[in-house]
Amino acid sequence: MSENKRKIGIMGGTFDPIHIGHLVTAEAVRIEYSLDKVIFIPAANPPHKQDLQVTPAIHRYIMTVMATYSNPYFFVSDIELSRPGLSYTIDTLTHLISQFGEKTEFYFITGADAIQDLPTWERVQELLNLCHFIAATRPGCLSTLDNIIRYFGPQGRRRIHRLATPELEISSTDIRERVKKGRSIKYIVPESVENYILKEGLYR
Ligand code: NAP
Repeated sequence: MSENKRKIGIMGGTFDPIHIGHLVTAEAVRIEYSLDKVIFIPAANPPHKQDLQVTPAIHRYIMTVMATYSNPYFFVSDIELSRPGLSYTIDTLTHLISQFGEKTEFYFITGADAIQDLPTWERVQELLNLCHFIAATRPGCLSTLDNIIRYFGPQGRRRIHRLATPELEISSTDIRERVKKGRSIKYIVPESVENYILKEGLYR
């Protein structure tokens, strides 16, 4: 990893909804890898979720903007929302390289559970040439990540990195369940996101 290149973190996720675990993870990666900024990119149509009900992208985008607003290093992009079709990461990376130039080094940050499926991602070998992957691990999923790193051989060892994030005990699934059951989500999501969920009647 070179020192004089601009370094940009890409925080990819469905963010349904964004929560404190995502924010703590992004900030930890920013500091650990000396990133110049982190761009949160809510997935519009996640390829692996075509059979699942996902909250309309506009709500997820607005919550992501509100949650990240106070951090001067955090930005949100709507590139996957404004692109028709499925949200393939390879298309996003190609777009960002054309925008920021080839001298920029990209770090794609996401959950280790998502990285576990990396071999099935669109044009994954090409993707591994374009960016580093930071797999945010919940306690207990280290060994499966090792298998994925081994699967990709030397390129996997160079390009896939892990970051333990205890705060990822929080999950979007759990938050949706809590709202459905009328339980509190205070301090698990930023206050602005909590208010937005309640006002818009999401996850009931
Ligand atoms: P997911 O299957 O909803 O999430 C898998 C796990 O990772 C969940 O436990 C999730 O927790 C966690 N997670 C997701 N994003 C995270 C983040 N940024 N930081 C920390 N933990 C995170 O995965 P997803 O959110 O839909 O997809 C993750 C990213 O991978 C997206 O950018 C998506 O577009 C990309 N992806 C691309 C392809 C492809 O190009 N073919 C295929 C699959 C995924 P929470 O539910 O709490 O977030």
